[in-house]
Amino acid sequence: MTDTIDTGTLRTWIRLFRDAVAEKRDWLTELDSAIGDADHGANMARGMDAVAAKLDEAEPATADELLKTVGMTLVSSVGGASGPLYGTFFLRMGMTTGPVAELDAAGLGTSLRAGVDGIVARGKAEPGDKTMYDAMAPAVDAFDVAVAGGASLSDAARAASDAAEAGRDATEPLVARKGRASYLGERSAGHLDPGAASTALLFDTLATAISGRA
Ligand code: ADP
Ligand code: MG
Repeated sequence: MTDTIDTGTLRTWIRLFRDAVAEKRDWLTELDSAIGDADHGANMARGMDAVAAKLDEAEPATADELLKTVGMTLVSSVGGASGPLYGTFFLRMGMTTGPVAELDAAGLGTSLRAGVDGIVARGKAEPGDKTMYDAMAPAVDAFDVAVAGGASLSDAARAASDAAEAGRDATEPLVARKGRASYLGERSAGHLDPGAASTALLFDTLATAISGRA
């Protein structure tokens, strides 16, 4: 039996992420009101609604086409920092997969890694800067470790999700060094980073989509 994620499951992931940011919109906004400008929930919900509308009309058949469509739509529909950053993540993922209809665990890992590298290239975040990178980097590391240890795609994705949640929680005491929250200096400590919170949703929905594959 081959352990792969096909374009349909990638689509399910994107839809579940859209549903999750819609459901958690007020919470994401509340987090951003503490250390930013109270728009992260609105930014993510607007961006993912635009993505869902685009996917309804386009029906991409390959992983690269799907992921690039997601990325381009986020870049063009979200004005805040998170639009270009998440947009770059998906664009780089798509540029890495090639025109394939399914990915195995190694292929998904390579693509996720390229996405994270794209976020760093764009936003220059370093570990501990209190950004989405602090949830994303441990998630992708955990995914790779699990796959190297022989875990199934489903177990690796759940390990990534657990690591993203731990990374999100670990942003709470940090002082922000990137983005709007950095303007607050020491006063940014004591709050979760909103982008790390949405990133935990991104990996939770990936794990859910993969474990629910037909
Ligand atoms: P804005 O900051 O423009 O209002 P959002 O509120 O939608 O945009 O997104 C804020 C989130 O973006 C932050 O919580 C942080 O996780 C992320 N972020 C901001 N700047 C950077 C950066 N340079 N690198 C990585 N992530 C960043
Ligand atoms: Mg904001």
